[in-house]
Amino acid sequence: MRKRPDSTNWLPTTRAEMTARGWTQLDILLVTGDAYVDHPSFGVPLLGRVLEARGYRVGIVAQPRWDTPADLARLGRPRLFCGISAGCLDSMLAHYTAFRKKRRDDAYTPGGLAGARPNRACIVYTNLARQAFPGLPVVLGGIEASLRRAAHYDFWSDSLRRSLLFDAKADLLLYGMGERSLVEVAERLDQGRELVGIRGSAWIASPDTPGDHLPSYEDILAEPRRLLDATLALEQHVQRAEGVLLQAHGNRLLAIAPPAEPLTTAELDAVHELPFTRAPHPGYTQPIPAYDMVRWSITAVRGCGGGCSFCSLALHQGRRLRSRSADSILREVRTLQACPGWSGSISDVGGPTANLWGARCTADPARCTRASCLFPRLCPQLKTAQKDYLALLRRLARESGVKHVRVASGIRFDVALAEPEFVAGLTRDFVGGQLKLAPEHSVPRVLELMRKTDFGLFDRFLKLFAETNRECGREQYVIPYVMSAFPGCTIADMRSLGEWFRQRGWNPRQVQCFIPTPGTVATAMFHAGCDPEGRPIHVARTDREREDQHAALVGRRSPPQKR
Ligand code: SF4
Repeated sequence: MRKRPDSTNWLPTTRAEMTARGWTQLDILLVTGDAYVDHPSFGVPLLGRVLEARGYRVGIVAQPRWDTPADLARLGRPRLFCGISAGCLDSMLAHYTAFRKKRRDDAYTPGGLAGARPNRACIVYTNLARQAFPGLPVVLGGIEASLRRAAHYDFWSDSLRRSLLFDAKADLLLYGMGERSLVEVAERLDQGRELVGIRGSAWIASPDTPGDHLPSYEDILAEPRRLLDATLALEQHVQRAEGVLLQAHGNRLLAIAPPAEPLTTAELDAVHELPFTRAPHPGYTQPIPAYDMVRWSITAVRGCGGGCSFCSLALHQGRRLRSRSADSILREVRTLQACPGWSGSISDVGGPTANLWGARCTADPARCTRASCLFPRLCPQLKTAQKDYLALLRRLARESGVKHVRVASGIRFDVALAEPEFVAGLTRDFVGGQLKLAPEHSVPRVLELMRKTDFGLFDRFLKLFAETNRECGREQYVIPYVMSAFPGCTIADMRSLGEWFRQRGWNPRQVQCFIPTPGTVATAMFHAGCDPEGRPIHVARTDREREDQHAALVGRRSPPQKR
């Protein structure tokens, strides 16, 4: 019989596990809407390890009951603060489909079943923390908090909502990846200092706080177009990384500090090499689908230069790319080999965009006014490193014990095309039969609104991919990801996209109906009914019209898929 793993290798989740470490009190309690998987792809466990490395005593409560504060209280009152995250996804996105129907599955929960976290988890968990630990500072973080840091449109209630900080009544909200900001929160509270002004945070400010004013919550309520102004300003704020943004909500003022500096390569290496067990807490008896997806994958890069208007990355990680060193990635491969169940296959070496590993801006990104490094065409200041990326993949593949290395993260075909040898090398050696690409649409006006590249480049890529496969005798396919019901897209545009598939005899397999997730530029366009220049656009707003657009591509049988 296989030996049960020693739970003291995980951050404590029970009193008994605290006692086993000789602890009587935590410094910091982290609460998450995901199951606890001690793996660097999971945000809260990663931050827990970062704090632990700084000497703090950290415990985790994952997916607590929300009808009583008892689960939060089970580790006792922490000395410094309670950190709250809804998990790796916004809780509303995790729970509802593009057509606002309840999902039955949740990849971040044991058994893959929905129902282990509440709707609007940040608000619910903060209430529980207030009940369990009156007077204790409560800090929000994670994607739900990050993307809802200012007034935002909420698709699920079809309403404009205030900053999550007001609705959750937390003391502070952290946005972005959080390592630097969270450590600073811990240090300041440890030293008895106030929390105001930490980079990567938002707080409720005094009326005389200096900064640049975004349109207020009430301005946007009165004129939805102002949400676009606010969202574009937030996007620039992340890129410029300077100055405080202010947003009035009635007679109260939200202040948003500039983002935290991205980690350096050495810092990113160090974070990924913290002593993760790389496994779910041994208390779980059922598999966790999200863990199975990332178990043998390696995160190599953070950030994405794409700036696609529907993607939350631009407001969360930002466009400033940071890559891990090849040596650190190699060390991670060696760690993987020691994990139970290792079969010799690395399923992915990537990140938001795999072939942007090693890319960097040769100008000063803080002075950049572009919304994308890749659209409408590659910025001449972006220096890519695709040959080095290919060399890295080859180096990993040569490592003893490694049978295959695959790239499962998306790649940017427009970037790849700039170096046909890269496309050939990737296709020959690192595509496991299917290559996921995201042209998203074929109609120029829709692509422009998405900030997506010329569709002609996608066709060019397909030809090159097919040629290489012919040359090396492999049968491999591109899986194109496309989107329906994007703001500005009409039913005629969807038919045009459908025609492209029909001409090739392809069945569209990956069609996502646009979901106006909080905080993105596309969501602001959806709400405002105009493009960023203020020109009116058609918006498929009702569920019926959204379903019609979707059905124009997939028919009525196939349910929309989460992505
Ligand atoms: S200058 Fe070019 S590469 Fe640098 S951030 Fe701006 S768009 Fe990206």
